Amino acid sequence: MALIDCPDCGRRVSPRAPSCPNCGAPITATGHPADRRLVTPGLLGRLTAVLGAWLVFPWVARLLAFLAGIAMLIVMFTSAR
Ligand SMILES: [Zn+2]
Repeated sequence: MALIDCPDCGRRVSPRAPSCPNCGAPITATGHPADRRLVTPGLLGRLTAVLGAWLVFPWVARLLAFLAGIAMLIVMFTSAR
């Protein structure tokens, strides 16, 4: 695994480290590709599940989205008063 430079102190640190062991700067905040891959699976899995539900049960998903939109409008109007 290649080391990356800490954005704060410039020390060589592992991209898998959550923070720099020298200065404590968060390594994940640098947007390094290796760190993005660690974050993606959860979000991608959730998106795939939502997309799969939308494709398998289109009318159910659209009805839920429609009801959610109506509920949001009701909350917005009642809170505005
Ligand atoms: Zn550092």
